[in-house]
Amino acid sequence: MSSAFSFALHARDGGARLGEFRTPHGVVQTPAFMPVGTQGTVKTMRRHDLEEVGAQIILGNTYHLLLRPGDELIARRGGLHAFIGWPHPILTDSGGYQVFSLAERRKITEAGAEFRSHIDGSAYMLTPESAVDIQARLGSDIGMVLDECLAYPALRDDAERSADRSARWAKRCRERLDQLRSGDTGDVAVTNPGQAQFGIVQGGVFQDVRDASAAATVDLGFEGYAIGGLSVGEPVDIMYSVVGETARHLPADQPRYLMGTGTPEDLVECVARGIDMFDCVMPTRAARHGQLFTSEGRINIKNARFAEDDGPLDPACGCYTCRTHSRAYLRHLYMVGETTGSALNTLHNLSFYLDTMRRIRDAISLRTFERFRQEFLRSVSRLSPDS
Ligand SMILES: [Zn+2]
Repeated sequence: MSSAFSFALHARDGGARLGEFRTPHGVVQTPAFMPVGTQGTVKTMRRHDLEEVGAQIILGNTYHLLLRPGDELIARRGGLHAFIGWPHPILTDSGGYQVFSLAERRKITEAGAEFRSHIDGSAYMLTPESAVDIQARLGSDIGMVLDECLAYPALRDDAERSADRSARWAKRCRERLDQLRSGDTGDVAVTNPGQAQFGIVQGGVFQDVRDASAAATVDLGFEGYAIGGLSVGEPVDIMYSVVGETARHLPADQPRYLMGTGTPEDLVECVARGIDMFDCVMPTRAARHGQLFTSEGRINIKNARFAEDDGPLDPACGCYTCRTHSRAYLRHLYMVGETTGSALNTLHNLSFYLDTMRRIRDAISLRTFERFRQEFLRSVSRLSPDS
């Protein structure tokens, strides 16, 4: 069966692109931000909350779902959508990023990554083929190829070697998916036959290595292309430059996904450089630590100046949290460690991110993106992070 995935580009404004992609579970308007649902849930959020803030697609982490509750158990429930009660699009990563973060608990060879679970130490082997099989059982709408994640800083030779291996792994991932699509599924219960697959460009901060990686990845013919291995500690101006140059080497008529980025400013700056999709734990993780994104910059809700502040968290925000509660109450919940505080803060931060994406899309369609960009960067940098 062929992929049910398609992408349409509706407008451009400078480097920024307005479009949408279709999946077996619905349409996603781009530029899009994907909240991260690590363990089959976006922490503290119910489906209703995610729909209310305007999430059109969420991300699931293959590594965590593989360990608990297991991809085969999820396949027997009909796949990830049915299991977690989210009928809208889902993207899964390959699990590689988490495995590479295990440091001494993993061993990488050409075959794949051998690792031990961070939970009980049991041994696993993640190969390009098994990463495809696991995601086929999960049945996400977009699966990602297994790539080798390079630490920063890295030497040029290492970046080149790693990008070459990622290209060889990408080829194996594509061949395995083609095999599943042809009906030769063996013991793999494919829960979403319309699943698309994205390739990933690597190469660290070396632009010629990135360019070669982009060419090799595009040559394999994926439904979309991601830029991986950024936001790992490199200076932000280098990240922006690599994103802009690499995007130029990706097909104009297919979606471009910048993995694991970033701040609200990063989203706007990378949309300007031709990126269509983002994911990041920042809005959800920061919310649980009381760090909140507002139209006037970032605030830390535990700051004593909010103790008797009856105003809304963000006067310009229409989310449930801002409509219903005061800064004084949110600070109180944070100080006493109530989980309701984490949920209210997460709802607001995701609302801020997804509202920013909506405003970006509106600006591109009105051809006013550059003006939006300047005003946005001015307003979000008005307050610096206070701790
Ligand atoms: Zn709000």
